[in-house]
Amino acid sequence: MSKHHPQNIAILGAGIMGLSCAYALAKAFPKTAITIIDPSGFPADNASYIAGGMLAPYCECDHLPPAYIPAGLESIKFWKDFSKETKDAFEFAQEGSLILAHSEDRHMFERIKAVLPAENRGTHVDLARTEPLLAGKFRDALLMKGEAHLHPAKAINALINELKKLNATFLQKDNSDKNHDLTIDCRGIGLQDDEPELRGVKGEILIVRNKDFYLKRPLRLMHPRYPLYIVPRTDNIFMIGATIIESADDFVSLRSGMELMSALYSLHPTFAHAQMIEMKAGIRPAYPDNLPRITRDGDIIRANGLFRHGFLLAPAMAACVRDLIAGTKNDRNALFIKDQKDEDYPQRRRKTA
Ligand SMILES: Cc1cc2nc3c(=O)[nH]c(=O)nc-3n(C[C@H](O)[C@H](O)[C@H](O)COP(=O)(O)OP(=O)(O)OC[C@H]3O[C@@H](n4cnc5c(N)ncnc54)[C@H](O)[C@@H]3O)c2cc1C
Repeated sequence: MSKHHPQNIAILGAGIMGLSCAYALAKAFPKTAITIIDPSGFPADNASYIAGGMLAPYCECDHLPPAYIPAGLESIKFWKDFSKETKDAFEFAQEGSLILAHSEDRHMFERIKAVLPAENRGTHVDLARTEPLLAGKFRDALLMKGEAHLHPAKAINALINELKKLNATFLQKDNSDKNHDLTIDCRGIGLQDDEPELRGVKGEILIVRNKDFYLKRPLRLMHPRYPLYIVPRTDNIFMIGATIIESADDFVSLRSGMELMSALYSLHPTFAHAQMIEMKAGIRPAYPDNLPRITRDGDIIRANGLFRHGFLLAPAMAACVRDLIAGTKNDRNALFIKDQKDEDYPQRRRKTA
């Protein structure tokens, strides 16, 4: 077998990064044995499983430099195609998203308008037509066409199912005596012991059912402390989140719970009677620049630091990992691949933004 097609690859971590790599590699190298190892099981209870599921490359411009927009759009295309392949298994929809602000938070609406990228500055829309239940509640609404959303837990399950069909092996403990040709390390915050500069950033979400409310697309509701999304799911279920807290404690605080609930209630009075389904916290892995990285150290490739953008960027990053192994060029290398000897790397990346 050529050096570009390893006989066997181990993938550490069954979050969105590990599963995206596993899927890209299983498709590209059908003769390679792929083993996914995660002590938390399949699906694992990790940051990916509880994420909001927003695929919002434009709205995220205040957290992610515009240079990453093409990678986000590439990932959206992946999810769209994968949704077709899996017969709509994970509620993927591309209806755009709406930016809204209450009148007291209007300055934030103006601020995000100022940082939106030139290629998509949003379209002012009439809420009475776009989201009729919100008519009259907000002075301005900006539609961000091209943005999408999905149900993260269902997307993870769909990836696991497809990987099983592609004969990938799933292990909670690597008890095989096999020597892997290559290891792809996607342990999320589990990598922190080896890479102390990686930190955990807590995100909290609330999930409710409100049978008297309906949304066609997600909302980005400007909020004094966090950029909050309200994402519609099937059966009148809504996800609101997520907080951004510099902490690796994985519990929902009283303050965050109150903030998420009041933000929902401020949207529409019917949320007063909504059924609370779940509140959860997850730990996002983040490097100091909050940007993701692929690094290579001999036969170990690490892909990590996805921060707020696991679903938005993992498919594009996985394609980079695949091409790194195959020895072919990928247009996104400069965004994701960090040369460990390149001390100038973060500055270079800021220049690309
Ligand atoms: C509340 C919240 C909302 C979010 N919303 C969005 C969103 O709307 N859109 C978006 O794109 N992103 C969102 N994100 C961000 C996204 O979830 C993360 O970027 C993503 O989950 C990171 O994926 P990961 O695979 O690197 O890590 P994880 O999902 O944390 O997975 C890492 C896995 O590694 C495993 N592991 C740990 N140690 C070992 C070991 N020794 N061996 C093997 N396996 C190990 C863990 O068990 C875990 O399963 C959100 C995150 C949170 C917390």
